[in-house]
Amino acid sequence: MTLRLYNTLTNREEDFTPLDPDRKQVLFYSCGPTVYDYAHIGNFRSFLNADVLRRTLELLGYDVRHVMNITDVGHMTDDDIADGGGEDKMEVAARRIAQAKQDGTLPADTEIDPGDPFAIADFYADAFLKDARQLGLKIAFDQQSNPDIMPRPTKYIREMISHIETLIKKNHAYVAEDGVVYFDVQSFPEYGRLSGNTPDQIRSGQGGRVDEATQALKRHPADFMLWKPDPKHLMRWESPWGEGYPGWHLECSVMAGSLLGKETNGVIDIHSGGEDNIFPHHECEIAQTCGASDEALFARFWFHTRFLIVEGEKMSKSKGNFFTVRDVLGKGATPAALRLELIKTHYRSNANFTFQGLTDSQRQIDRWKKLESWLSKHADAKLDGPGPLVVALPAFKQALTSDLNIAGAIGALSSAAGMYSINADPPESASGNTTYADELEALQEMNSVLGVLDLEWEQAAAGAGEDVAIIESKIADRNLARDNKDWTTADRIRDELLELNIAIKDGSEGTTWKKIVK
Ligand code: AMP
Ligand code: ZN
Repeated sequence: MTLRLYNTLTNREEDFTPLDPDRKQVLFYSCGPTVYDYAHIGNFRSFLNADVLRRTLELLGYDVRHVMNITDVGHMTDDDIADGGGEDKMEVAARRIAQAKQDGTLPADTEIDPGDPFAIADFYADAFLKDARQLGLKIAFDQQSNPDIMPRPTKYIREMISHIETLIKKNHAYVAEDGVVYFDVQSFPEYGRLSGNTPDQIRSGQGGRVDEATQALKRHPADFMLWKPDPKHLMRWESPWGEGYPGWHLECSVMAGSLLGKETNGVIDIHSGGEDNIFPHHECEIAQTCGASDEALFARFWFHTRFLIVEGEKMSKSKGNFFTVRDVLGKGATPAALRLELIKTHYRSNANFTFQGLTDSQRQIDRWKKLESWLSKHADAKLDGPGPLVVALPAFKQALTSDLNIAGAIGALSSAAGMYSINADPPESASGNTTYADELEALQEMNSVLGVLDLEWEQAAAGAGEDVAIIESKIADRNLARDNKDWTTADRIRDELLELNIAIKDGSEGTTWKKIVK
């Protein structure tokens, strides 16, 4: 079976074949988290879709060499608009933690020295890996025996400096008057191929940045930072351009090249990230890698996951609908349900996270888990001909090969599972040459991609998920009423929640709730 995969670079679905088809090896790089805070469930939607792609490739028989970075320096607050402006997110985190410590609001489990950004990075990297393993991110398990596959840029400073030297030598980079090293986008005619943001468009104001003082020092507004000398930066290294630190875009080019592209002159098969990574991050990565290698391509396929939204709205701290993995699990959801909820919408559509959806995912997993134990119990019993799961397996695979049609795959599994009545024993009359062990194997093969049956799935308190769905939806209704200044409805909902023994509090972080213990 051939995987058809949408490629952002060409804007169409293509047959996926690896760089070296004989080896059946896939070189796959995923942009990972920046560890200045806990990752939120939107971040995890991107990471989990990369995980589903990797597992699908493995189901199809490929050996996937997967690398995902953990960014611990150089990701600037303005990196989403252009070229390395603003402040390093790790420095912002250091300030946030110092302030919280002073105010006495630092959570008890966040014992970090705010003056040590390496300690901050370690703390949130550990938290990320814990969340990632809870949600079944395969690479986070492999990382336990092979930490190199989740590299940190602070360990690749030497390689980054040498990459910049190559780019300067090839006239793709220059040192500006303020000492900052920039990539010269006009030296790279392909700039804009991935995102459509060409240097000309950026000059005329689309995607360019606002800081005029910096602009004046650059050859072009889209030129982006490779190395920033800064003797005051908390994390800094010696370099030919003074003590300073590398740019975020550079980090991914260099780590992908060092860990995956050594034998291929930097070319890899697939590169993934969230949709906001297309520009400028991935556009800049292509310029840096191909500028140094003179290859026509960096990644042959670019895979981008659309954003997760929450209850129909963009996730944001101010709306109070901003969730980390620990927030959602803390409300009674299970890791298995959260994983399914975050992967069950096609990666190229926005996914709408709702607590009702989480409850539905939990129910689906409950059914599959019960079926799994029924099949194990009756593994030796015979069946007349191939069973429903064995029959559904090709359809399951077929759906995934169609640009990861996850809903189609889940549908194939669910209809097969629906043919079982697991409250009874299997019929004794069957004399066929297949057994329920074959069915169990088919279920497990499907689960090798879905990855939910081997995660924690039993809810701590019966019905907790459903309660949470009701509470969250009432709070959402009340917030809507408050937005519309409909105070009568808002007060009525508050009373309804009180009847359920739920107290709510409106604060700067949105509306929070807790159970009243009597
Ligand atoms: P960051 O830690 O900010 O570097 O982000 C890590 C990854 O999460 C990036 O690949 C982003 O594109 C992705 N991302 C951020 N917000 C969302 C969201 N709401 N939905 C899906 N992916 C997201
Ligand atoms: Zn990246």
